[in-house]
Amino acid sequence: MKAEMRRDGQQRFDVLVIGGGPAGMAAAVRAAECGAHVGIVDDNATLGGQIWRSESEHGPTEDAAKWYQRLLTAKVTKRCGVRVFHQPAAGVLLAEGSDDLYELRYGNLILATGARERFLPFPGWTLPNVMGAGGLQAMVKSGLPISGKRVVVAGSGPLLLAVAAYLRRHGARVPMICEQASWSNLARFGAALLRHPAKIIQAVQLQRELAGVPLAPKSWPVAASGREVLESVTISRRGKLETINCDYLACGFHLVPNTELPQLLGCQVSSGYVQVDELQGTTVQGIYCAGEPTGIGGVELALVEGQIAGLAAAGRAQEARKLFAERDRARRFARILDQAFRLRPELRNLPSAETIVCRCEDVSYSCLQRHASWRAAKLQTRCGMGPCQGRVCAPATQFLFRWNPDSIRPPVFPARVESLALAGRREQQAAQ
Ligand SMILES: Cc1cc2nc3c(=O)[nH]c(=O)nc-3n(C[C@H](O)[C@H](O)[C@H](O)COP(=O)(O)OP(=O)(O)OC[C@H]3O[C@@H](n4cnc5c(N)ncnc54)[C@H](O)[C@@H]3O)c2cc1C
Repeated sequence: MKAEMRRDGQQRFDVLVIGGGPAGMAAAVRAAECGAHVGIVDDNATLGGQIWRSESEHGPTEDAAKWYQRLLTAKVTKRCGVRVFHQPAAGVLLAEGSDDLYELRYGNLILATGARERFLPFPGWTLPNVMGAGGLQAMVKSGLPISGKRVVVAGSGPLLLAVAAYLRRHGARVPMICEQASWSNLARFGAALLRHPAKIIQAVQLQRELAGVPLAPKSWPVAASGREVLESVTISRRGKLETINCDYLACGFHLVPNTELPQLLGCQVSSGYVQVDELQGTTVQGIYCAGEPTGIGGVELALVEGQIAGLAAAGRAQEARKLFAERDRARRFARILDQAFRLRPELRNLPSAETIVCRCEDVSYSCLQRHASWRAAKLQTRCGMGPCQGRVCAPATQFLFRWNPDSIRPPVFPARVESLALAGRREQQAAQ
């Protein structure tokens, strides 16, 4: 099938992949290598996702380079800096670039939209220089000078170690890494790594890079202080309070999957993850999902799920089945990750009454406490209705109040008025 590019940005693909991280790249490559006409869309300036993007300073890792090369050879059509925000009719997605609007039509669709950091609110977390761990890493990758700065890294999950090592390589001083998980959980996680040789190599490398940096388990930030910007952070460390002077706090509590687009398209989500069958097919015919939206499991799981989805979407189910054993191994690691870094209940007590929970709409913890559900809080306080569309506060309230953020409405990302007008026209046409 040939691409039909028109001036208004209309294109049709046999297989369309949304998300250009490892899962999306692997999916696009495998589908294109089967002869399908494949398009891949990512909202960042380059492909690679959270882990491979901006590796250019030292060149891509060997693994990443292999996938970039295969993508090039397989002649996948790339659309970078383009974000999918709506589905006006079955088989059609609308996506915005900085100046363009694309109407993307597909035979089969693969959603590989990744994950984001989970933020938990505590007094002072909205001060300048308190940032997400991955967020600060991304800013340094984009040129933020970090050399000589004191950075406390806190929260939960292996990302903290990767970020601390990255910041140190760029000259930051890291006085402490605070991990909310207990020593026993970390020890179990370490023991489980022995069954995953690739992970052991990564762990040893991280250990070397972080030599001399204390890793404090059962520790978390309780307050960030400073007059105009962050000056110090107070942590709870095994039940005792300790204050550390610093220039930045890099803080994230593991990851939450980006399930908004799959949900908008009607895919069933169960326990927070997109439900998939053995071929990565969602509950919607012709829509597959791979990578972090189906479970937080790291780059190996993302790659193998992406390959299975790509092969299945191109009609090669038999070939996809050969990868099931590899996926089972990677999924076992995902389960260990989930157990080791499960959030401790004490973290529900982090916010004070005045702590802002929804920073887009300035909604405090005490305002939210009066409501029984996410929906009621949204209606009464505008929580989750700002520019981030609840991407930060919804996972926080899910943990703090055990709410279920159930309402997904188009557009899944803020879009220009002209784009919304086209969406409306297409919806009308589809209804006729
Ligand atoms: C902030 C952050 C930093 C991380 N840093 C590291 C690290 O340093 N080392 C490490 O080992 N692991 C890191 N990880 C974990 C790593 O991302 C995963 O292990 C794995 O790479 C996930 O691959 P993926 O393809 O599923 O998702 P991702 O790599 O997240 O790729 C998904 C892509 O889809 C794009 N996207 C989402 N929605 C849309 C849309 N509607 N339209 C267009 N594009 C869209 C996203 O912008 C993203 O580029 C990080 C994760 C996060 C969230």
